[in-house]
Amino acid sequence: MVKRALFISDLHLAGERPATNEQFFRFLQEEAVRADALYVLGDLFEYWAGDDELTDNRGDPLAAEVASGFKALSKEGVQVWVMHGNRDFLVGKGFFKASGAQFLDDPTVVRIAGKRVALLHGDTLCTDDEDYQAWRRIARSDAWQKEFLAKPLAARHEAIMGLREKSKEVIAAKPAEIMDVNQAAVRDVFRHLKLRHMIHGHTYRPARHEHVVDGAHCERWVLPDWYGRGGYLALDDVGPRLVSF
Ligand code: MN
Repeated sequence: MVKRALFISDLHLAGERPATNEQFFRFLQEEAVRADALYVLGDLFEYWAGDDELTDNRGDPLAAEVASGFKALSKEGVQVWVMHGNRDFLVGKGFFKASGAQFLDDPTVVRIAGKRVALLHGDTLCTDDEDYQAWRRIARSDAWQKEFLAKPLAARHEAIMGLREKSKEVIAAKPAEIMDVNQAAVRDVFRHLKLRHMIHGHTYRPARHEHVVDGAHCERWVLPDWYGRGGYLALDDVGPRLVSF
């Protein structure tokens, strides 16, 4: 039974940001090790071109270090669950095998410390961003993934770097509210899953929000990104709370 769980997302780990990576390994060794379960709600990695990141000598060496970090945590008896984000949705069986982590669907409902909680990455809630939703449908299709993964790793890295540059321009040109969750989309999740607690990341707007859905008070927690100070959400008998580093 999970009595104490920690939630993180949007770490965007990459070899090029060593301070964040150190923070992450310290978090595993000092915080996560004392929990029953660690839930990673997407965008653990800045990018993931395919599971050959772990085995190809042109892959990011950080990939294998993260897998070992999770493996060590699993050996300590901590469950590790990993959800896909919009950056690392190609994390596949190879990573789960190497890390001992378990795949977490988006959305998933978990019961922790007596509460039923919906877990999501958060991008599916941003329905006002129609361009992004169109791209998401393409990138999550089997056909696109099959074609992309058939390319050599170097070509996939190049394509990802191109997409990152393009996405920076697109994001800079968009009004901030389009990049946040849509209130109706949030309400639909509470309604369909018939629960009152939700945790997600993706928007880089860490907070606790209250929603009234069909007369019921619901609570939505947004996790912090690690581009900034970083942090996590802890959930146990005391209740949920956000912790910043
Ligand atoms: Mn994201």
